[in-house]
Amino acid sequence: MRNAIILRDVSYIDVVSGKEVNNTNLIIENGVIQKICKEPFEFGNKSYETIDCSGKIAVPGLFECHAHLCSLHNVAMKEDVLKDFVKKGITQVRDVGGPFKIMKEMKDSITKGKIVGPEIFYSGPILQGGKLSWQVINESFPGFTVSINSREDVNSILNDLYNNGASLVKTFSTFDKDVLKYLNLQAKKRHLKIAHDVGGLIFNSIPVELGLDLGIDCFEHGKAAYSSVLKDNLKKEHDSLMIKRTPKQGQKLFKKLLSLGEASISKEKLKNLSEKMIRNNAYLCPTLMWNESNKNSENEEKKKMITELTAITHYLTKKMIAHGVKMLVGVDSRTATTLKEMTLLHNLGLSNLEILRGATIYPAEWLQISDKYGSIDVNKKASLLVLNRSPLDNINNIEDTAFVLKEGEIIV
Ligand SMILES: [Zn+2]
Repeated sequence: MRNAIILRDVSYIDVVSGKEVNNTNLIIENGVIQKICKEPFEFGNKSYETIDCSGKIAVPGLFECHAHLCSLHNVAMKEDVLKDFVKKGITQVRDVGGPFKIMKEMKDSITKGKIVGPEIFYSGPILQGGKLSWQVINESFPGFTVSINSREDVNSILNDLYNNGASLVKTFSTFDKDVLKYLNLQAKKRHLKIAHDVGGLIFNSIPVELGLDLGIDCFEHGKAAYSSVLKDNLKKEHDSLMIKRTPKQGQKLFKKLLSLGEASISKEKLKNLSEKMIRNNAYLCPTLMWNESNKNSENEEKKKMITELTAITHYLTKKMIAHGVKMLVGVDSRTATTLKEMTLLHNLGLSNLEILRGATIYPAEWLQISDKYGSIDVNKKASLLVLNRSPLDNINNIEDTAFVLKEGEIIV
């Protein structure tokens, strides 16, 4: 690792204040920003590699906030894909579901410098109460999902998470309320937070509203809030089916709601829920790219369903953005397509600064690592994306890369 670099005459975006700091020098040693200074720098007896950055603008290394990198395991182009993240300035990934063994191995080979890739903060397995939804994936990826049904299960999985280097907990769909509450409390004692996916579109055992009451502060997918914000008459129908439903009746309501689209949503409930999220300092990771990747299905019925689902997802996300809920930028895949997610969020009204925050300081704060990550500041990791033009002017400029530094090492 190069141990001493000066980025001379660089401008950078302070994502915390939202301001641009112009024409300064970043002094980097051992992968950390040691000093930020305007005045001529006293070199002492150290030899620095100086990079002239006049006219360039730096932003903190980006986070991809919803990845599943485990499926790259045993894939021939794994190394290229992982390198592609860093080349695009994505120097950290929040991985929300993958077996410990694979994730730990991947992280270790990146940390030890065997392969080039982003720093991975992973959840390990997806936790779910009762019957596992993706049991079949466990055949190719043992330990992808784990069933959690009691306090004993919670204690045991938290030991596994701790011993295998997990940085967060991922929960999905069905859960016993008390078990999830216990999981959240015990996880917090170990400085782990839960990212919750409510599961299917309508029958959620832990909808966002309840998740917030249990102390959860991060929800995956833009559709998450849907079952909490149905108009009264539909909510009544939904709740009675939730208690005593047959698959046929459930399917019928599902189709009805999809075809109603935004007309099924109570604007007032959505506003109240958004305000509750803000009060609880909770984040939404909309993963709009998931819809984009799935919309071109060969199956006409599926195509229609995804189109309607996308309309609901976009409406909910757009309103939450307008109400001021904090967004995280994540694509729900294993590829470095984070910029496309940024463009989609921009189209739904998220400002360029908030998009940047959602890929830098917000994930760092949520992961409780903002002492070292998420913004350009003294004592933070020197993982930076240096651009030719400012992404505050146009978010697409995030691709106009001059070079990338990962922990003080020049990648591109
Ligand atoms: Zn996912």
